Amino acid sequence: MDFTLNENQTMFRDMVRDFTRKEIAPIAQQMDEENGMPAELVEKMKASGFFGIAFPEQYGGLGADTITYGLVVEELAKASAGVCVMLTVHNSVGSYPVAMYGSEQIKQEFLPRMAAGEIAAFCVTEPGAGSDAASITTTAKRDGDDYILNGSKIFVTNGQRAAFYVVMARTPGTTGHKDTHAFIVERGTPGLVVGKKEDKMGLRASDTAVVDFEDMRVPAAQLLGKEGDGFKIAMSALDGGRIGIAFQSLGIGEACLAEAVRYAKTREQFGKPLIRQPVIGGMLADVGTELEAARLLALQAAWLKDQGQPYGKQAAMAKLKCSEAAGKAADTAVQVHGGYGFCKEYAVERYYRDVRVTRIYEGTSEIQRLVIARYLGQEY
Ligand SMILES: Cc1cc2nc3c(=O)[nH]c(=O)nc-3n(C[C@H](O)[C@H](O)[C@H](O)COP(=O)(O)OP(=O)(O)OC[C@H]3O[C@@H](n4cnc5c(N)ncnc54)[C@H](O)[C@@H]3O)c2cc1C
Repeated sequence: MDFTLNENQTMFRDMVRDFTRKEIAPIAQQMDEENGMPAELVEKMKASGFFGIAFPEQYGGLGADTITYGLVVEELAKASAGVCVMLTVHNSVGSYPVAMYGSEQIKQEFLPRMAAGEIAAFCVTEPGAGSDAASITTTAKRDGDDYILNGSKIFVTNGQRAAFYVVMARTPGTTGHKDTHAFIVERGTPGLVVGKKEDKMGLRASDTAVVDFEDMRVPAAQLLGKEGDGFKIAMSALDGGRIGIAFQSLGIGEACLAEAVRYAKTREQFGKPLIRQPVIGGMLADVGTELEAARLLALQAAWLKDQGQPYGKQAAMAKLKCSEAAGKAADTAVQVHGGYGFCKEYAVERYYRDVRVTRIYEGTSEIQRLVIARYLGQEY
């Protein structure tokens, strides 16, 4: 078993680490306070190829493997989880359905533009359909060479910023997952209405918005896969997306551990640094161990994907373990900082808020357990 990263993986990681230290970390707190992201930062990331990391080279992307992509996501999350989620949604669930299920014409039309920085979003969740994605009610009615979509999506990451939306909808009058369809829709399509941006607890640099469809006409050529493939496409996109969220969680968790250790080395109580107080040292050791174990799961899931092997179970396990380990890391980091950990002056306060959603989006921890239990039921 070889745990060594290859030259390409190390090069990408170091390049992104350098970028995040210079361009993202210094303004992370400001973005959190201002509830947004400067346009100049997005332009710099476009110029550095960040929006095409996971895209095939033939469509203008960098063609990075999943491990490399994970390392990049981790570095971004250490600096700003909000910037990170904009890029992970774009590079995974927002574009993967097009790359995997789009016709050649659709791929050629949309993927190079996405890889160049026209941002993608993924629209499944609705007011009445969250964990149970098969219960969506947005309709897609066939009308000649078009479909007409009506409905409302919520919590759409990149909702306000996106140029493209992958949208799940169903044949009117149906229920269940069989009659759901996936479409790629361009911003500016008449009937696509971008609504309000959520005022969130964390990930405040990212935009999360409502997107409505009011008699929106979409050419049948923009159907991804076949009619009825919508649920399958959404689930396979989420399998890959979960690997990204696992690495995002790791990035936040490691940032918490680093802050907590640095603080514990300098803060003295009872005549010695906190890190030398056995209880605090033990808490930090537990966090470090949990993160390391979680990292192995995330790397294994990414490796399986790169080998073309099934990875759904490991992706769910990695997402569950990494998000929970990172949550514990953030909680411990605040605790180690004492009262200062509760104040905005210290980064751990932001990490504590940012990390919380990793146990909720792209499938809650409860849903990951359901998915894992389903795999185990088939295996034994
Ligand atoms: C910041 C943010 C960004 C997001 N980005 C996107 C996006 O880009 N695109 C998109 O489509 N969606 C997005 N989402 C939506 C996200 O995926 C959902 O919030 C998530 O899937 C949970 O759905 P819900 O909020 O409706 O909760 P519910 O499904 O209503 O769940 C509520 C609670 O019940 C639990 N629960 C539900 N069913 C079961 C069960 N069978 N067994 C045990 N427990 C259960 C859940 O685990 C949860 O704890 C985003 C959400 C947030 C907060």
